[in-house]
Amino acid sequence: MTYTPPLNDMKFALRYLSGFDDVVKLPAFSEISLDLADAIFDEAGKLAADVIAPLNHPSDQQGAVRNQDGSVTTPDGFKQAYQAMGEGGWTAMEAAETYGGQNMPMVISAAVNEMWQSASLAFSLCHLLTQGQIFALGKSASEEQKKTYLPPMIEGRWTGTMNLTEPQAGTDLAAIKSRAIKQDDGSYRITGQKIYITYGEHDMAENIIHLVLARTPDAPDGVKGISVFLVPKILVNADGTLGEANDVRCLSIEKKLGIKGSPTAVLQYGENGGATGYLVGEENKGLGIMFGMMNHARFAVGLQGLSIAERAYQQAVDYAQNRIQGTPLDRKAGDPISHHPDVLRLLSVMRAELEAMRALLLVGGAALDTAHNGNEAERAAADTRASLLIPILKGWLTERSVAMASDAVQVHGGMGFIEETGAAQHFRDSRILPIYEGTTAIQANDLIFRKTLRDNGVAVRELLAEISADMKGVDASLADPMHKAVAATDDTLEHLLAAANDPRRAAVSGVNWLMQLGILCGGWMMARSAKAAENGASADFSAEFLMAKQTTSLIYIQQCLPQLFSLSEMICNGDDSVLRMQPEWLLRA
Ligand SMILES: Cc1cc2nc3c(=O)[nH]c(=O)nc-3n(C[C@H](O)[C@H](O)[C@H](O)COP(=O)(O)OP(=O)(O)OC[C@H]3O[C@@H](n4cnc5c(N)ncnc54)[C@H](O)[C@@H]3O)c2cc1C
Repeated sequence: MTYTPPLNDMKFALRYLSGFDDVVKLPAFSEISLDLADAIFDEAGKLAADVIAPLNHPSDQQGAVRNQDGSVTTPDGFKQAYQAMGEGGWTAMEAAETYGGQNMPMVISAAVNEMWQSASLAFSLCHLLTQGQIFALGKSASEEQKKTYLPPMIEGRWTGTMNLTEPQAGTDLAAIKSRAIKQDDGSYRITGQKIYITYGEHDMAENIIHLVLARTPDAPDGVKGISVFLVPKILVNADGTLGEANDVRCLSIEKKLGIKGSPTAVLQYGENGGATGYLVGEENKGLGIMFGMMNHARFAVGLQGLSIAERAYQQAVDYAQNRIQGTPLDRKAGDPISHHPDVLRLLSVMRAELEAMRALLLVGGAALDTAHNGNEAERAAADTRASLLIPILKGWLTERSVAMASDAVQVHGGMGFIEETGAAQHFRDSRILPIYEGTTAIQANDLIFRKTLRDNGVAVRELLAEISADMKGVDASLADPMHKAVAATDDTLEHLLAAANDPRRAAVSGVNWLMQLGILCGGWMMARSAKAAENGASADFSAEFLMAKQTTSLIYIQQCLPQLFSLSEMICNGDDSVLRMQPEWLLRA
């Protein structure tokens, strides 16, 4: 159950695939270098492997516990590990230096976050939420709010939460009912119930800062009437010290399928007259703030998909190298199951997909870096690309993470189903990822309606043109299938555009379209990887690493890319059969 950070693959992807060279040309990142990135990866890897990873399995067994007084005790070691990360400056590397952060580009912090999340998804979720809130406040809060709340969160003394969901308002934020009433001093009284709030209550930090969506009394209906409020668990005095407890209580924490070490809380606001909250931005402009944060949060959850799949993969490889069962074909007795061709297939396809995902994630991180820090023209182009990639990264990586964690169980045979090995935990833990932060269907709606049909396919065509151009110099064994895949995707796009006036047809194909683009982008990354491995990457990487990279690239093209053609076929020729089905028929013979 150990974890070994895939440092070589991270360094390879950073150097040859991510667009790092363009990121460091941005004035904001002029002091960032590959040497610095390598040193950061090495240090983060030690903390992830030595301090966090050992907590993962025991925390699943122990779980988070709500006590009689409403407090929540996290699993053994979580509190100390959170403190250690804060002290080491690891909580939020991307945060602005003005508030104590390190102003790291996402192309670097993404790889570091991958390690935290691989080490323990349940533990590192607290970072994900805190980082999300730091990002949101950095973009939308007043200077005074930033000065008060950002430094303690960046130092790891306070943590952050996102409070969107209510019993009747999950995917549909228009249904939010929590209320906010303005007081004479400019603060607001918040009342209402929020459910499923990750790290809504815990013992790892001195204070918890809730970011709460609520409505003011005269707010318009629907999403146009949502505002965002900062609601500290413990009120903060003018000098930054902690004051009285606020009117927010943890009613319960959920019993759940996975990520059991992370408390998922039901929070009640305003049992005693209303919790004190502070408006972020303007009234009724909450959705804009949430949208600003969404790219960041969805990127982070896509990253969790990569992380859990990597951990599951490592566990399966370890088992397959040691388990002896039968004599693999053309091998000698006593050779482990990793020599059975089918076990080798399972593991090597997993590895190829992981490498493709890691590279695409860093490409997405670099696009976000430019979108946030470039000049006007650079920002616009990078924003378009990042906006297209985000739903793909969230949807494709998380859906595949569940499939990969399942394959990792399969490699273990019966032992995979037994909790002792830890393989079952990764499978259970992965299952939340395609659900929270917008289900896969919601990513697909975003991709097909906003990112594909709204601009008449322009952003997708730009991506296809870039992929085709990047095939120059790629060996024909990879480039030819990639050209065919680009052509099939272009045909699929034409089909979708032709049916654009029928939103039900578009919506029914959304997830297939998302997966098709995900698979294509994976091929793009692996074809580029093969080219880089062949052309002169050898100074930095061992011959064995480069040979394995060329092999995984070919495996991806031969074992993963062909699924794209089935998806294209399903979209172009199978989109109306589902729509003929009546929901009333579903329960009948
Ligand atoms: C462990 C855990 C942690 C969470 N952490 C947080 C947190 O920290 N903060 C927070 O605010 N929330 C959190 N959530 C809530 C989470 O974001 C929601 O559960 C998720 O957005 C889905 O909402 P829902 O559960 O109401 O499902 P529903 O919205 O009821 O969806 C049910 C099904 O219908 C589909 N569906 C719904 N609407 C559409 C549509 N328009 N088009 C196509 N399909 C649709 C969905 O894809 C899904 O398959 C957490 C949830 C869990 C389980």
